[in-house]
This record gives sequence, structure tokens and C-alpha cells, in this order.
Amino acid sequence: MLVRQISHQLLHLKLHDVSSIDGDAETSHESINDSAQIQLSNLKTIDTLGIGGYGRVNLVTYNNKAFALKILNKAHLKNTNQKEHIKNEKNILLACNSDFIIKLNQTFRDSKRLYLLMEYCPGGEVFTHLRIKGKFEEETAKYYMAAAMEAIEYLHSKCIIYRDLKPENMLLDKNGYPKLADFGFAKKLSSKYGSTFTFCGTVNYVAPEMILNKGHSFGVDIWAFGIFMYELLSGVPPFTHADPIDTYKAIISGFELMEWPLSINEQTKSLICKFCRMKPIHRLGYGNLEYARKDEWFKGFDFEAFRDRKMRPPIIPKLKNLTDTRNFEKVPAEDNFSSDEDCSDWDFDF
Ligand code: AMP
Repeated sequence: MLVRQISHQLLHLKLHDVSSIDGDAETSHESINDSAQIQLSNLKTIDTLGIGGYGRVNLVTYNNKAFALKILNKAHLKNTNQKEHIKNEKNILLACNSDFIIKLNQTFRDSKRLYLLMEYCPGGEVFTHLRIKGKFEEETAKYYMAAAMEAIEYLHSKCIIYRDLKPENMLLDKNGYPKLADFGFAKKLSSKYGSTFTFCGTVNYVAPEMILNKGHSFGVDIWAFGIFMYELLSGVPPFTHADPIDTYKAIISGFELMEWPLSINEQTKSLICKFCRMKPIHRLGYGNLEYARKDEWFKGFDFEAFRDRKMRPPIIPKLKNLTDTRNFEKVPAEDNFSSDEDCSDWDFDF
């Protein structure tokens, strides 16, 4: 099993939030319409794909079709103050229709758990492929950067901030096309001028304004582009310490004092620094990502061919069939999360 970076910890600490609104070769992937009538009891569990702070994600099948089923323990969500996060995740995913964002087909609930039935991405996490390779070539990094930019530009156009960009949250479909997953920290703002104060995300990726509790908006995702780009090209995020407090201190100091790895050249450095400017509105692409696409670093990258799927993905997953889970780390079949009943009905509309 691949060992994850200790510093890639999730922050589930909700401080305060003042935003204004808040198988087989024949097995195929499912489209939204085809799955409208699925019953939870008819889903067959094949394997576990991932475990998170909330519960687990299983590979399930229905009528020879594969799906990912995210299962969340309600009592755990309630005890960790994450009720709004899961409602946001559901509502935001249902509102999204982008080739670069995972599709949510259906949701279910029972007395103990909430369930999200999603398209299955058998290629696994970009993180897993990055760990195998150590670091990516520039052309590979450009491909995944372009995908992150498409997904986040789409979200921003709907006034949604994502807040958790990282290689773990980019999954590959059977063709190697990347899709953004895990919308647990995504949030819709009241307008393009809205802001919010929830401290959340992944330690190495949080933007300075979030640490300083100044209020944050779309700029946090632009900051994350710089961190993501750095991690893809060097194998680790730039601000990484065993103690999260030291990581936060380093983030606030920025790139000026940092030593750069040899794998990152001047042109690359320049774009990372432009994404990671201290002031959110000064970050390249804030308000219009076209400026970032026009940066020297992307010179020669054909965004149109990329969008039209005319560019060969850098990693094409090896798969025996569409319920093959070889691209996922092995995870324990059991978890320690509470599965107590929770009949308080906070999830009545889930
Ligand atoms: P999440 O908490 O949504 O990030 O899910 C935890 C892990 O489960 C992910 O990092 C993936 O490894 C796996 N996973 C989640 N959703 C999917 C999906 N739609 N297809 C394949 N694997 C998934």
C-alpha cells in the first residue's frame, strides 16, 4: 500500500462560517438518466475504493454497470459539524454538468447513513500515479493542470468555490480523462463578490487568507493551482512540515524564502508564483483564467484539442474490466466510524 504524506491531512475543523448563503468487459459506466430508478438494496458491493474522515467509498454494480457509492455515517457528520458540507456536496454536484467533474447519479438515506451514487472512475487518483512515477514530466503536469482549470473555471462561473484541489481529488476515467471529485468543502457563494470564513481544505493547500481568517473566496482555488502544479512537478507540495502549524507559518511566508527543487525551472517557477501571490486579486487568472492559459508555461499546449478530447491523455489506465480496482490503494474492509442511528431528521431533504 502506498503511504500518503502525513501532511496531507484534512481539516474538518469548522470554526465559523459567515457566507451569505449558504466487472466484466460488458460492464459499462452509467449515465444519469439510465440510473434514475435504482434502489439501494439492488446495489451489489464489489470492493472498497477509499476511506475518508466521513465513511467510505465502495465500488458497486447494478445491472452489470459500475458505480462508486460514497457512504457517510450520519452520526459522525453530526458530531463533527459537517451536516452542511454534505448537503453542499450533494447540491453542488447535482447542479454541475461538466466533463471535468464527477457525475452524481442519485442519493439515498437511511437511519444511519447517507449515500451518493456516482460515476466510477476506474483509473484511480492522479495522486496514486504521481506516487508511482515520483514526479510528472511537464507535458503530463500541463494536462492535469488544464483539467483542474477547466473544472474550477466552471465552478467559479456558478459562484462555487471548490477549496480542496489536490492530486487525491482528481480521478481518471477508463480513458484517462481527469475528473474532479470530493466536493465536501465546495461552497456556493451569494455572488461573485461573496466571501466566506470556514477554515477547511487540506493543510498544505490552504491559502494564506484562510489561515489568517480574513475571509476568502475564489482566490483560494487560484492559490491551489500553484501548489498543485508544484506537487505534480516535484512529487510533494511546497509547504510541507510534520506539524501543521509550521506548514501554516511557511504558507504565510510564501515562496520567497523557499528553496526550489531542480525539477522546477524558471518559467515554471514564475507561473507558480503568479498563482500564489499573497493578495487574492493579484493572482494570475483571478476573475479570468484565460490570462493563466496564455502564460509562457502553457505555450504550445492546445487547450481546444484538450477540451475536445483530441489530445491523448498522458496516463491511460490499465484495466482488465470496468470493475477492476487495481488502480486503487488497498484499504481495510472495516472502519472505525460511528454507525449509530441518527433519527433527528436533519437530512430529511437528502
Ligand atoms: P472522497 O472522500 O470523495 O475523496 O473519496 C475518497 C476516495 O474514494 C477518493 O480519493 C478515491 O480514491 C475514491 N473515490 C471517490 N469517488 C470515486 C469515484 N467516483 N470513482 C472512483 N473512486 C472514487
